[in-house]
Amino acid sequence: MFQLRDRELARAVVERLRERDEPLTAMHVCGTHQDTIVRHGLDGLLRECDVRIVQGPGCPVCVTTPREIEMAIALAEAGVTVATFGDMLRVPGAETSLQTAKARGADVRVVYDINEAVKLAEQGAEVVFIAVGFETTAPTTAAALLRDLPDGFSVLSCHRVIPPAMEAILAAGEVALDGLIDPGHVSVIIGTSPYEDISRRHGIPQVVAGFEPVDVLMAIWMLARQVDEGRSQVENEYRRAVSREGNPRALQAIDDVFEPVDASWRGFPVIPGSKLALRPRFEEHDAARRYEDLLAPVMDRDFEEPPGCICGDVLRGVCAPEECALFGKKCTPRHPVGPCMVSREGSCNIAFRYSHD
Ligand code: SF4
Repeated sequence: MFQLRDRELARAVVERLRERDEPLTAMHVCGTHQDTIVRHGLDGLLRECDVRIVQGPGCPVCVTTPREIEMAIALAEAGVTVATFGDMLRVPGAETSLQTAKARGADVRVVYDINEAVKLAEQGAEVVFIAVGFETTAPTTAAALLRDLPDGFSVLSCHRVIPPAMEAILAAGEVALDGLIDPGHVSVIIGTSPYEDISRRHGIPQVVAGFEPVDVLMAIWMLARQVDEGRSQVENEYRRAVSREGNPRALQAIDDVFEPVDASWRGFPVIPGSKLALRPRFEEHDAARRYEDLLAPVMDRDFEEPPGCICGDVLRGVCAPEECALFGKKCTPRHPVGPCMVSREGSCNIAFRYSHD
């Protein structure tokens, strides 16, 4: 609920936005921002002010590729215990999902964090933890890998990092953007400095935003002010949580354990330096190396998106969920066709939930 002070501030911001003459299009890359925007009806309010907000690739489960899902399924079907977050079970691979593999008898476990998966391995199981998430969750994976781990435990890293994806969006130029709203949670870890080079090279204003409705509105107002004043800087609306340097201990843990590698994201071609792979010294706990032979057939195949699903376009901000012919018909949160309807951070899931509540 808006506090009274926030309501007054929000009203003042909206009034200022209404007074502007120019339209504004901004992209954010965060499922929580999208939830705030849609849940509080900010999208409709902002449209009245000629402001369009687009969600980019801000859902870690959604950007996981069909190949990565197929790798997890192959491991489960080969008799390895696969442990991961609940959303990952229902994300479709090429023909099936981890949920289907579980129904057929594979040992697929839902865990709330990596430590639960480690405990399973300590009890004697051969366990692969499917590690998904951006810079927000990568430190937890790194911290676990820096401890003594049971021999039977390994990690299939699907971790991605956000700045290279923002760079890819801007370089492709598919959506004409006036500014970027940078993700609050990720920025708590990485700080604001990694965005500075992006603003410099692409001449685009950015504002790191928190998650209250008034945070998002303030961020949009700050972007609008930069546009009107001809500036392209990184500003920080979320100062109560985000610094320029980020969290040095978390960043150090990430750097100790992972190295950035080129990788495709769902809907994107290969994005340089956008995935976190385990460094060679962790190879005994790196599922991609440990099970290299088992996974080879999956690595050799090409995988298509589910027929009719336009998640790739949605993740690039080119299409809205409602433009998908399957939205709300064949594809619902109960029967998702694509990952953007599975995850509560996915645009399709958010659009469906708040239009059908
Ligand atoms: Fe994919 Fe379903 Fe979204 Fe369509 S509505 S883009 S099928 S997730």
